[in-house]
Amino acid sequence: MQTGCRVTGYRNEAQGVTAFVETHQGQRLEVPGRLLIAADGLHSAIRAQMHPDQPPIQWGGAIMWRGTTPGKAIRTGASFVGVGSLRHRVVLYPISPPDPLTGLSTINWIAEITVDNAGGWTQGDWNRRVKLEDFIHHFEGWNYDWLDVPAMLSGASEVFEYPMIDRDPVPTWVDGRVALIGDAAHVMYPVGSSGASQGIVDTRVLGAAMIEHGVTPAALQAYDQKLCKDISALVLRNRGSGPFGILGLVDERCGGVFDDIDAVIPKAERDEFMARYKQAAGFAIESLNAAPSIIALGARVRPD
Ligand SMILES: Cc1cc2nc3c(=O)[nH]c(=O)nc-3n(C[C@H](O)[C@H](O)[C@H](O)COP(=O)(O)OP(=O)(O)OC[C@H]3O[C@@H](n4cnc5c(N)ncnc54)[C@H](O)[C@@H]3O)c2cc1C
Repeated sequence: MQTGCRVTGYRNEAQGVTAFVETHQGQRLEVPGRLLIAADGLHSAIRAQMHPDQPPIQWGGAIMWRGTTPGKAIRTGASFVGVGSLRHRVVLYPISPPDPLTGLSTINWIAEITVDNAGGWTQGDWNRRVKLEDFIHHFEGWNYDWLDVPAMLSGASEVFEYPMIDRDPVPTWVDGRVALIGDAAHVMYPVGSSGASQGIVDTRVLGAAMIEHGVTPAALQAYDQKLCKDISALVLRNRGSGPFGILGLVDERCGGVFDDIDAVIPKAERDEFMARYKQAAGFAIESLNAAPSIIALGARVRPD
């Protein structure tokens, strides 16, 4: 499809599917094909046609500010660190190796608060550039001997604000010769770094189904059956606290103040908590590494 074209809908037919496309000059086209795979994201036009009664976008009250700042990676050098509580926290992790000269990595950070969402999201666009002074006061006094949060936030060259949003799951991602994939199928809170990673898994699973069933509606059905129910459960699970539930436990047990974390939550309990999340989200390293590739090396869809 040409860049700038917009898919507005589809019509299933016995032998194929027609996608309705609008070019940016306003021209309306009907494009025939065997299958239509819709990867048109949060505001998916194809999902809206497939599920005309879907509820609106859901915002649970969390607002995230995100930026990157040069800094020293904490602990292992690849650690994912969450500081604070369920409704008020900072998450940080390195996204580059340390610079050989300065020893500093690029640290990706997310500063987050949860507010009353009764009035709905009123701040306009879903993501927008903001000034430091718009949000840094929420993290005043977050200075520790191992991490200076205000300094980290201040070190970013630009900061963007996002509401934490998703959509209620739908019972199927497939209608005849049409399938939803990625955020169009399952936009979810990106807790535990999920979202795009699931879109990649979708693509692999759909590819494997096409290798088995050809470029057919049966392949779409196999894809839907394999993923839709479990990933819909993950969407709802991510509305909870995901891996950050552990911060809630610390808060509950000691108000967040402790000298010895093992006395608050023993290591075995921490490990078990995280193992449960990783298993549910499909991030369990051992089982993931032991699993065969979703698509065997060299496998190809049969030409017909
Ligand atoms: C703040 C934030 C942090 C995140 N962090 C993570 C993370 O750490 N890890 C992770 O895995 N995921 C993360 N995600 C989620 C991730 O960004 C999304 O899951 C991912 O971008 C979805 O990819 P997609 O291709 O399905 O949809 P999108 O990236 O939304 O792409 C959809 C595309 O379709 C186009 N489009 C829309 N409508 C039409 C139409 N009608 N016709 C034709 N084209 C159309 C759009 O222009 C766009 O190019 C995060 C998301 C947010 C907001």
